[in-house]
Amino acid sequence: MFISFSNTTPCIYNILANQVYKPFHAYLFSVGKALKKYFCHFSKKKNPNAALYKFLNFIFLFEAVKSGKIAMPKDEKSWKAELTEEPYQVLRKRGEEPAFTGKYWDNKEKGIYKCAGCGQRLFSSKEKFDSGTGWPSFTEAIPGAVEFHQDNSFFMKRTEAICSKCKGHLGHIFPDGPKEKGGKRFCINSCSLDFKLLGSRKK
Ligand SMILES: [Zn+2]
Repeated sequence: MFISFSNTTPCIYNILANQVYKPFHAYLFSVGKALKKYFCHFSKKKNPNAALYKFLNFIFLFEAVKSGKIAMPKDEKSWKAELTEEPYQVLRKRGEEPAFTGKYWDNKEKGIYKCAGCGQRLFSSKEKFDSGTGWPSFTEAIPGAVEFHQDNSFFMKRTEAICSKCKGHLGHIFPDGPKEKGGKRFCINSCSLDFKLLGSRKK
């Protein structure tokens, strides 16, 4: 079974390590370093067992993809074919939908907001509030679902919110949310989201 992976290892290894999951790679690197120390100590060799180190890294990454913790990388062509124009522009090109135009800014139904790119669960309607901005606003995300990046575009210092699984752009996070709920405001584009209703609608 292992031999069949060997041809694909360098390609997937590089893409995952460099583009998709840097924090995880950093973790693997520290695991690899510990293993390297271990093998050097017992074999009395100066050079680490590079092949073993790479192989173990690949197995960790392979498991992470298989268990759904990270998504397989897709090229821009595949994203373009898969998404309609608006979600593509926002999720993949970091665009922004105009205020009061998205389908969820005024949605008050109970349910879960998933990522329109990969389907990961991002926000619960329990954390949604009316910010008056015209974009869906939340005080908190589902733990581990959203990552943050510093965004210095348009001469502003903002914190970008991205999906932790597919790395799609969701919106920004600001510190002016309701104080009694932690003070955060996740300002999210409707077209980055896919709403799943909980239960049935009242008639
Ligand atoms: Zn996603």
